[in-house]
Amino acid sequence: MTPTPATTPAGSPASTPASTGPGRSGRPRPKRGEGQWALGYREPLNPNEQSKKDDNPLNVRARIENIYSKRGFSSIDGGDLRGRFRWWGLYTQRKPGLDGGKTGALEPEELDDEYFMLRVRSDGALHGPAQLRALGSISTDFGRDTADITDRQNIQYHWIRIEDVPTIWQRLEAVGLETQEACGDSPRAFLGSPVAGVSAEETIDGTAALEEIKRRYIGNPEYSNLPRKFKTALTGHPSQDVAPEVNDVSFVGTTHPEHGPGFDLWVGGGLSTNPMLAKKLGVWIPLDEVADAWEAVISVFRDYGYRRLRSRARLKFLVQDWGVEKFRQVLEEKYLHRALVDCDSPPVPTATGDHIGVHPQKDGRFYVGVAPTVGRISGTVLTRLADAVEAHGAEGARFTAYQKLVVLGVAEDQVAGLVAALEEIGLSATPSNWRRSTMACTGIEFCKLAIVETKQRAADLVAELERRFPELDTPITVNVNGCPNACARTQVADIGLKGQLVLDADGNQVEGFQVHLGGGLGLEPQFGKKLRAHKVTSTGLDDYVTNVVSAFLEQRTEGERFATWVGR
Ligand code: SF4
Repeated sequence: MTPTPATTPAGSPASTPASTGPGRSGRPRPKRGEGQWALGYREPLNPNEQSKKDDNPLNVRARIENIYSKRGFSSIDGGDLRGRFRWWGLYTQRKPGLDGGKTGALEPEELDDEYFMLRVRSDGALHGPAQLRALGSISTDFGRDTADITDRQNIQYHWIRIEDVPTIWQRLEAVGLETQEACGDSPRAFLGSPVAGVSAEETIDGTAALEEIKRRYIGNPEYSNLPRKFKTALTGHPSQDVAPEVNDVSFVGTTHPEHGPGFDLWVGGGLSTNPMLAKKLGVWIPLDEVADAWEAVISVFRDYGYRRLRSRARLKFLVQDWGVEKFRQVLEEKYLHRALVDCDSPPVPTATGDHIGVHPQKDGRFYVGVAPTVGRISGTVLTRLADAVEAHGAEGARFTAYQKLVVLGVAEDQVAGLVAALEEIGLSATPSNWRRSTMACTGIEFCKLAIVETKQRAADLVAELERRFPELDTPITVNVNGCPNACARTQVADIGLKGQLVLDADGNQVEGFQVHLGGGLGLEPQFGKKLRAHKVTSTGLDDYVTNVVSAFLEQRTEGERFATWVGR
């Protein structure tokens, strides 16, 4: 997309940095730039920007294939290792045995293990048996049988050696999968409705639009140097099953009274330390124009996004500063070169969109949503999932934005057999509330930013709550995070847990959590209340959650939801 020559949204020439009031001399004092390219700030203002300018990070693949994989970990350039590798889905994992919260003083090489986390994009696509088998065998052959389903519908491996990366890419690409731009300041993996094209309730199937965006723009150097990450979500399902409120750009199915089904455009959502819900533009975009609109939004971010401070380099800050009207004006006038069609935003969902259980498809077959515990599966499970899909004549599986998966295209007479086969490998179609509604990020086991352990802690919490509240009659979501970065969406759970060091009863600093209560998406999109007094040690977590849930069950009025009770 070729934008018109860059000017500020207010119309200042691009080459003239904006100024603030007069300085001591009486002359206008140049305003410290935010590093917005469109305002003429092309010189890198921090090491990340310098690294991207020095060499397009996509180029690192050739060095991995030709040099690093042959010469080993010690041959890897530091700028590639801790920067450009991310554009190919690779992060070094945390050295085992390092305490949380005490790693700030360490040099990067003291923190880095010689193994990698590797993320594979799924982009909401349907994975048939061949893809599932490839995903499984890579884990068992190269990743010590690790595989997590992330809440961005990726498969994430650990223990990957640099020597094996080219072979892994070959195996993935042979079945149409890739790791390109799975991380880094790039268009990350897309979230797509897990039931796109099959759900009888769907407003519109957005699959073709996601495929088109991927085909045109992933790996396109025009969009591989963004201010920071750029998260995309698209759904035509009325449950809005891809957490659209907390993505940088979301397309959400809506119906125009004259034009029919299309998508509303939401921008500027995100969590972490400055959480913001996406702003709804209230427009109607037809399916075949979604890719153009996506390109316009990412171009605004690339050109006007703040690059000086990493902490402000997300689209949400620009949307907050401009407001939604100015954002739309710039989008239409400078990038799309046409006006968008006004339309009511879609109605608020009336049900959650995790798709767990057995559901009819519009073609008379069924889909089956199943829950591993906190997204943790393995290569063995992926391979057995492929076996089960094949044995029961299903089409394949999609991952969900809730660390779960859905098997699609199951004939009626195969449903019971498939459900039993999945149950056998730990994928339950009838999970407890706790297993169904709990997510956890990577945490201290592998993540260098983590302060606390998450995956196992959350799995233990699930097991204990299943024992204490076996018959819970209303969903309560629990999101466990290892640090303030909120990769498992701290602020939008009924019980959101942010990892930090807390004091135990003896005054010792120990692993624990700051609690956020009453957050949610969809039905009640809001951030949980951060109650300063609600800090809990990791060992005290089971009892803390038990007390909160018991109080809710005692005090709720008929039909009252957890978030409403918290807000009283
Ligand atoms: Fe790592 Fe923090 Fe993200 Fe968890 S929330 S995966 S600890 S960065």
